[in-house]
Amino acid sequence: MTRIQNYIDGQFFDSDDGLSLEIIDPSSAEKIGTFPDSAQKEIDAAVKSATKAFEHWSTSGPEYRSKWLFSLADAIESKLTEFAIAESRDSGKPLSVAKMVDIPRAVANFRFFAGAILHDQSEAYVDRPSVLNYTLRQPLGVVGCISPWNLPLYLFSWKIAPALAAGNCVIGKPSEVTPLTAHMLAETCVEIGFPRGVLNIVHGTGPRAGAALVAHPDVKAISFTGGTATGRLISRVASESLKKVSLELGGKNPTIIFEDADLEVASTTAVKAAFSNQGQICLCGSRILIQASVYDQVKAKLIEKTKALTVGDPLESATDMGAIVSMAHFDKVLHHIELARKDGGHVLTGGVRLHVSGRCENGYFLAPTLIEGIPHTCSANQEEIFGPVATLIPFETESEAIQLANDTKYGLSASIWTQDLNQAHRVSSKLSSGIVWVNCWMHRDLRTPFGGVKESGVGREGGLYALRFFTEAKNVCIKMD
Ligand code: NAD
Repeated sequence: MTRIQNYIDGQFFDSDDGLSLEIIDPSSAEKIGTFPDSAQKEIDAAVKSATKAFEHWSTSGPEYRSKWLFSLADAIESKLTEFAIAESRDSGKPLSVAKMVDIPRAVANFRFFAGAILHDQSEAYVDRPSVLNYTLRQPLGVVGCISPWNLPLYLFSWKIAPALAAGNCVIGKPSEVTPLTAHMLAETCVEIGFPRGVLNIVHGTGPRAGAALVAHPDVKAISFTGGTATGRLISRVASESLKKVSLELGGKNPTIIFEDADLEVASTTAVKAAFSNQGQICLCGSRILIQASVYDQVKAKLIEKTKALTVGDPLESATDMGAIVSMAHFDKVLHHIELARKDGGHVLTGGVRLHVSGRCENGYFLAPTLIEGIPHTCSANQEEIFGPVATLIPFETESEAIQLANDTKYGLSASIWTQDLNQAHRVSSKLSSGIVWVNCWMHRDLRTPFGGVKESGVGREGGLYALRFFTEAKNVCIKMD
């Protein structure tokens, strides 16, 4: 049993009124700990502490901040297995994934921004010989970082690291569904003597702790990753105090397979794109668009590869897919599958709960599901299900593929499969999405802009984009004789 506490001003506290909530391991449905059900008072205390710490942190120089972020990265890495086990138990994801992806990526996020801040630069404009303009980039002050449950430490650190590197002090509000590794991060800060108040972590639900953070008048910016409906609400509240807001929201991403693609590699990657992390990645390719001439061939490959996935105990090394993150989310995904059936969808494989014996007999396991035959206007092709469900959609021509790909309210990412370079460029430029992969999926370079268009988000994360978000540009104009 882990008893999580808030991390404020370098110390651990329960919520002021002593209220707490349960942490459930979705692979066994067992209670594995508690965390504080925080609200306004805890956020106020964290903001006070961060405000006090800001003066020193923001003026201490990039080398100082970089050193601390590198230390944090090293300390997390030294406990990689512990962190990975916690992430797996908290979220239901395979331990192998947490070990290979989530925790190494959190380490990489801290290292990347620890390095990036040392190489940051700004602009200067020489007008006439006697006029010089230069731009200072100054930290905002106290900022809020709110993250979701699907890649808990990975996405939490993706926000915290640039905010701290740029000289801000942070109030982090991790998802209430998966609070374990954020708490371990706080413990790690204490172990390495990380400066007090620079990073504060307040646990609790969105409507209480999250809402108090967003509304707080002394919080200058909110970096949010989560659902589109929550993002819309946050944007509305933050606009009252004219906060800067970065929103990374949902997706309904197309994988587009043209007839000339390497169909074997395309199918293998399409299955990975659909079902990695139980389909619970904002970048998952949940609509697989296949050119009609190769539809049957690709469909057969997709079914075969999907059936070959091992769903089971996340702690076992042979497991490809673990549990769905919570009972509530499990019910939501099943509901979407039922809706797809009612809309005329034909379930090609999956569509049912799986029972895993032993330790996991009560866990929330779902068979990876492929569905075809649903009109594109139906919810399975329009709404983000955020589970192991993908639809197969045939198309005839390139222009039809683009029209279908763009025909949702989302626009986060897309993956195109073709050997025709001209087609790759043409289609990439016409897709309404923030990220396009050609003949690959989820290749990440941390310097590139990351984010979506339409209802998938506002703003970009990654490299300089994140450092710019967490700073204010100030122009200084000097007239010389
Ligand atoms: P969510 O919106 O329910 O919650 C996300 C976070 O927001 C949590 O920490 C939650 O406590 C907090 N929150 C909820 N209501 C709030 C409020 N009123 N004020 C302030 N904070 C509030 O999302 P989720 O279910 O945790 O995550 C799944 C969603 O996240 C999916 O839609 C997925 O696509 C999206 N996501 C997007 C990206 C991206 O980079 N675009 C990455 C990962 C996940």
